[in-house]
Amino acid sequence: MAELRTPYFRVEEAKLLHNLEILKKVQEEAGCKILLAQKAFSMFACYPLLRRYLAGSAASGLYEARLGKEHFGGETHVFSPAYRADEFEELLAYADHFVFNSPAQLDKYAAKAKATGKQVGLRLNPQCSTQEGHAIYDPCAPGSRLGTTLENFRPDQLPLLDGLHFHTLCEQDADDLETTVEALEAQFGPYLKEMKWLNLGGGHHITRPGYQTGRLIALVRRLKETYGVEVYLEPGEAVVLNAGVLVTSVLETIHNGMDIAILDTSAACHMPDVLEMPYRPPLRGSGQPGEKEYTYRLGGPTCLAGDVIGDYSFDTPLREGDRLIFEDMALYTMVKTNTFNGMPLPAIVWRDRDGSDTVVRSFGYKDFKTRLS
Ligand SMILES: *Cc1c(COP(=O)(O)O)cnc(C)c1O
Repeated sequence: MAELRTPYFRVEEAKLLHNLEILKKVQEEAGCKILLAQKAFSMFACYPLLRRYLAGSAASGLYEARLGKEHFGGETHVFSPAYRADEFEELLAYADHFVFNSPAQLDKYAAKAKATGKQVGLRLNPQCSTQEGHAIYDPCAPGSRLGTTLENFRPDQLPLLDGLHFHTLCEQDADDLETTVEALEAQFGPYLKEMKWLNLGGGHHITRPGYQTGRLIALVRRLKETYGVEVYLEPGEAVVLNAGVLVTSVLETIHNGMDIAILDTSAACHMPDVLEMPYRPPLRGSGQPGEKEYTYRLGGPTCLAGDVIGDYSFDTPLREGDRLIFEDMALYTMVKTNTFNGMPLPAIVWRDRDGSDTVVRSFGYKDFKTRLS
């Protein structure tokens, strides 16, 4: 079989199934529902598979809600910090659970949603930061626009509410969730009994080896018993953790005080979290700089000086055409790619459980051009 043209994302069924089995067990043992947060992963070609395990999908707005409704099925939940008046009617056709960000948004839209039989929820800000280092991922940071604080909460709106929602975690374990739920109960406890459901958002690293699954299950059970609510989780990352790779080729090597390899993939265009977060993605078969004999700085072919993926070492020198495999590239990658510099978008490949690869989608000049005019 001819080698596929790089760069491409390859999502692997066996790895996806591994995660889905874990999530299924959590749903069964905790008695909760798990939704895919599509903003992390929207490869709708595998939604039919995900749907066999998950209760539905969570959307950040109109387009994701439509994709979820049309391709995922099950329940379609949507949250937006501010809905648009000119989109709301259409959104009613796609979503069944609407989570609002503020009392003002409830005033504007909740009656409309309820009139068409939709579930209505409010996102809370329990003002409980449990993560360090990544302020851009902390919805509880001072000045946050995400969620309603106790000060702004309006008990007169309780009759509008079917549920409450919070999302405050990022790649975290169940101990931080416990801390957050304690803060939530201390502030909003009296209202929880009046709700049909509680949505604990995403950021639960459930499929990471060592995650405290037992604590999560115990917590969900306690919430259900104490308040009589149905519990939702809406992880993105955990659904596709380690389920895909980005395959790239070396285009050229040069030397400027150190060895440098230019790849046919770009941090800025194909894995922007590497620069935004920032982090150094794992690369199969490589070591830390200096650990193996040949160390290279790996960079993209764009004009951005900082389009650098990281420094890695190898057992043998890199040569033109060598293929490199970045790990854990299913999440927050395909959904964030761009064509800066006219960079081509990586193809999307599916590896089924028997190990055979299919190109689900490839991109060309048209995909670059049609986003411009
Ligand atoms: C980002 C987000 C999620 C998913 O978060 P992960 O870290 O990918 O699990 C879920 N719900 C909301 C409201 C989000 O903003």
